[in-house]
Amino acid sequence: MKALAKFGRPADFGSYRFIDVPEPVCEDDDIIIEVKAAAICGADMKHYGVENGSDEFGSVRGHEFSGEIIQVGKNVTDWKTGQRIVSDNSGHVCGICPACESGDFLLCPEKVNLGLGYGTYGGFTKYCKIPGEIIKIHKHAIWEIPEGIDYEEAAVLDPICNAYKAIAQRSSLLPGQNVVIFGTGPLGLFSVQIAKIMGAVNIIMVGLEDDTKVRFGVARELGATEVVNGSKEDVVARCQELCGGRDSIGLAVDCAGANIALKQAIEMVRTNGEIVRIGMGFQPVGFSINDISMKAISIIGHMAYDSTSWRNAIALLKAGKIKVKPMITHRMGLSEWDRGFQLMANKEAIKVILTYDCD
Ligand SMILES: [Zn+2]
Ligand SMILES: [Zn+2]
Repeated sequence: MKALAKFGRPADFGSYRFIDVPEPVCEDDDIIIEVKAAAICGADMKHYGVENGSDEFGSVRGHEFSGEIIQVGKNVTDWKTGQRIVSDNSGHVCGICPACESGDFLLCPEKVNLGLGYGTYGGFTKYCKIPGEIIKIHKHAIWEIPEGIDYEEAAVLDPICNAYKAIAQRSSLLPGQNVVIFGTGPLGLFSVQIAKIMGAVNIIMVGLEDDTKVRFGVARELGATEVVNGSKEDVVARCQELCGGRDSIGLAVDCAGANIALKQAIEMVRTNGEIVRIGMGFQPVGFSINDISMKAISIIGHMAYDSTSWRNAIALLKAGKIKVKPMITHRMGLSEWDRGFQLMANKEAIKVILTYDCD
């Protein structure tokens, strides 16, 4: 079967190749699914267009995927063929660290994500193995997809759960507060929706000039009360003006990761305000962070989700309270993966769904 793989050692960026890989073998505790939908994520994008020159197989990519169970090992009793499932993409955890003990499996220092971690096989292919080892330790490593949710919506549950945990479980947002969200990708757009569900009054989306093409419009459709163009506007002044002044912003959510977003977030939130940082940047912070102390701001570093996030996000999706379809801008065969990545890179796409088309 064909697969989109990344070559090179774990720390290397880049080197995607479309290659032949063997079909997975189902051992006694494993589950094999036929992948029905896999989404391109920002975490895949950072490797796109980079050549590291390595010929060493890294992983089959694709950590946001759903599919149908086509085979179960003889020891598997909880799952059967024909069930529609979505993976939370955990492939290995230790089971004994403080994070695992509290059910925060995705924060396990030993965790390996299917489609991300070195040596793993993710969803950008035809068949994918859910290792028996993970299901024994972490029973919610896969979830059955309820009726009313289709495969492509389920494949995008990863960023929904991520935004859900960031705002609903990590921040102390109260109904009636205002929220500013930096970054117009799926995490930002799902954060808009969660903030709306939680009763935020003003939900301001901050993006850049190239977000005027597609993403600002979708942000408004999904609940952003205003959008601010950071390429043209004074972001701090404009957000405070829209929300009602200096003391009006209790929560900023950074889904962008650029240092400028963190700087502006620190400047705009009120005293005792909160900043949840989801996005990633790779440059050292080049500004004073004294305001964190002066204004007693809490900066909450956020990663991933837990089973509570999944249970509740699935319920919200099933109830129609979270919308995915306006964000799925493109659907194509896996063989066209390069076009999908290009559309993501130039921000014409928000979510691209790839389906296997190679036999
Ligand atoms: Zn992702
Ligand atoms: Zn652990």
